[in-house]
Amino acid sequence: MKKTDVLIVGGGPAGLTAAAVIAENTEKNIDITVLERKDKVGKKLLATGNGRCNFTNDILDDMSYRGNNPSFAYKIIDRFNKGTLIGYMRRMGVLHTSINGYYYPRSLQAASVLDALNKKLDYLGVSIKCGVNVTRIEKKKDMYIVGADKLDICAGYVVIASGGKSYKSLGSDGSGFKLAKALGHTVTRLHPSLIGLRAEGLDFKMCSGVRAKGKIDLIVKDGTVCHAEGELQFADYGVSGIPVFQISRYASQNIAKGNKVTAIIDLATEYDVIDIKEIIADILKSNSRQTILGALNAFIPLKLARAILKRQRVDENSGFKQIDNGIIIALASELKQLKINITGDCGFDKAQVTAGGVSTEEIKNSTMESKLMKGLYFAGEVVDIDGNCGGYNLHFAFASGAAAGKAIAERIEGLDI
Ligand SMILES: Cc1cc2nc3c(=O)[nH]c(=O)nc-3n(C[C@H](O)[C@H](O)[C@H](O)COP(=O)(O)OP(=O)(O)OC[C@H]3O[C@@H](n4cnc5c(N)ncnc54)[C@H](O)[C@@H]3O)c2cc1C
Repeated sequence: MKKTDVLIVGGGPAGLTAAAVIAENTEKNIDITVLERKDKVGKKLLATGNGRCNFTNDILDDMSYRGNNPSFAYKIIDRFNKGTLIGYMRRMGVLHTSINGYYYPRSLQAASVLDALNKKLDYLGVSIKCGVNVTRIEKKKDMYIVGADKLDICAGYVVIASGGKSYKSLGSDGSGFKLAKALGHTVTRLHPSLIGLRAEGLDFKMCSGVRAKGKIDLIVKDGTVCHAEGELQFADYGVSGIPVFQISRYASQNIAKGNKVTAIIDLATEYDVIDIKEIIADILKSNSRQTILGALNAFIPLKLARAILKRQRVDENSGFKQIDNGIIIALASELKQLKINITGDCGFDKAQVTAGGVSTEEIKNSTMESKLMKGLYFAGEVVDIDGNCGGYNLHFAFASGAAAGKAIAERIEGLDI
């Protein structure tokens, strides 16, 4: 049987960072092996931020990370914060740029981050084996036997950095959860997150493709659970865009629990209903050729205005003479409080991240080592931590990978207590 000192399952940002940090922090001549099921490492990393890799953010607040115990993530990020990550990237040859507080490589190419990581691992002598799908891990005395289709490897330390179960085409197929469970770990309930939401209550086909500025409130059992603001995107199935991504985790979770989930969209955040009513009336009054469709189009894109008029059963060609005050107030209210029923999400295959994962109750926060099995570590999205949209998930992947890597190196060096 082949032997290695450290075996890392998964060649994403978490696994690759863990491998690099171990190699950088030990003087000993050890073998570090990364097993990756796809033909290349870092496929998801390449897709991040629309190919630009948004890896951290200026804002870190109590909405940035979620999970059964979000403080687990904040402690990891605290020890490997934005400055540390930027410095780490810089030493690898990746400069950064910030666009409105969202951090990217200066090249604006995720490929430059992966290229730098690959070169670093090559230089450090880390062995990367692609096309190897790990299907089992067993502990025998002090060693782990890691099994893949045609390969068994024996290792002293194992890091499970296999990602979640979203965007399977980019590698993570949820197998890490099975591996963790088989080793006795608890995996909390999994939900897609950072995902578009299916909805009813508006002719979405009619306004598919529309982008509109607005605020979305998620209502569960008559109470607002969370809200987000920014550019909303309308699609034939419902709503998407960054604000929808931000609230999607809570929508998916509540729908799975069987709760009634609705959303209220404010499409004119700068105005109140009275302002809108007066503006619409002024537009119609000032020009007899003007239509109610034209007046709504002063606030929102045409296709969306049409869908709202259809919902209110108002003829889009109506002018001042055909529209009474009551209708104008009803339309103004729709712009402020467009209520839609959320019926589902677009599923794991389209979700940017997986909410839920290996319970943080069973992982040591300072080292990412399992509390149940010495020598077993977790890093990245496989853990029950998911971040908001804006670089938080990559930051956690890099930071938790670094924490695991440092802890393993210290143990190899005999420094840990
Ligand atoms: C389209 C898209 C855009 C995104 N944009 C951003 C963004 O801009 N900013 C941000 O912060 N986050 C973003 N994310 C989320 C981010 O990419 C992930 O949270 C992050 O990649 C997680 O890193 P990871 O190393 O834990 O897992 P992954 O990147 O998923 O890597 C895990 C690796 O393990 C491999 N693997 C899995 N199981 C096995 C197995 N059994 N055997 C061997 N190998 C295995 C997989 O093939 C994969 O390569 C985006 C996600 C998507 C899908």
